[in-house]
Amino acid sequence: MHSLFSDGIDSMEQMAEYASVLGREYIAITDHARYIDDPDAYFRAAERIEEIDVLAGVEVSILHDGSLEVPDGALKDFDLVIASIHDPGNLTERLLAAMDHDPVSIIGHPTGRVLGSPEPVVDIERVIEGAAEAGVALEVNSNPLRLDLRDTHVKMAVDMGCKIAINSDAHSRGALENISWGVITARRGWAEAGDVLNTMGLRGFMKWLRR
Ligand SMILES: [Zn+2]
Repeated sequence: MHSLFSDGIDSMEQMAEYASVLGREYIAITDHARYIDDPDAYFRAAERIEEIDVLAGVEVSILHDGSLEVPDGALKDFDLVIASIHDPGNLTERLLAAMDHDPVSIIGHPTGRVLGSPEPVVDIERVIEGAAEAGVALEVNSNPLRLDLRDTHVKMAVDMGCKIAINSDAHSRGALENISWGVITARRGWAEAGDVLNTMGLRGFMKWLRR
């Protein structure tokens, strides 16, 4: 989820408060890397929150040569790194290249589809195979305009032993509730709790991230 540190419209505290109202055990704030010019202030803001455990994560864009918008070294202090593509072109190769970066745990909105726009061209089978091999999870983005991975892709991921992460991608408190759409999408793809990264409790989740 995003906060005022990048393009969200609510503060980290507000996101955390509402997530705790919704009964979440922990949350991951994953603001866009290019907005975080003072990582220490970001980490301190996450640490100050008392209602709920907060992982200080980051979403980093994958560039056209498969590199990330910030060097790997600058990512190592974040609890969680999501790599994703935000512009068209050469998607399959870029996604596969991103998985080779050690700090990356999750690939965000893997096909980049936005409902109502032309379907991006991605070799999803190769992407899922690559993710399973690299031990990187693929996101089911719960934004109703994305739902990416979609149900049939989830099925493929589950069959290939690739973990999925059901993320709200919330840019506001209210959007935290979008996660239901991601859960429905994952269920349509026959995912069970054990296939989903963030069904784990905080300790199990942290252990998976550090592995
Ligand atoms: Zn994104």
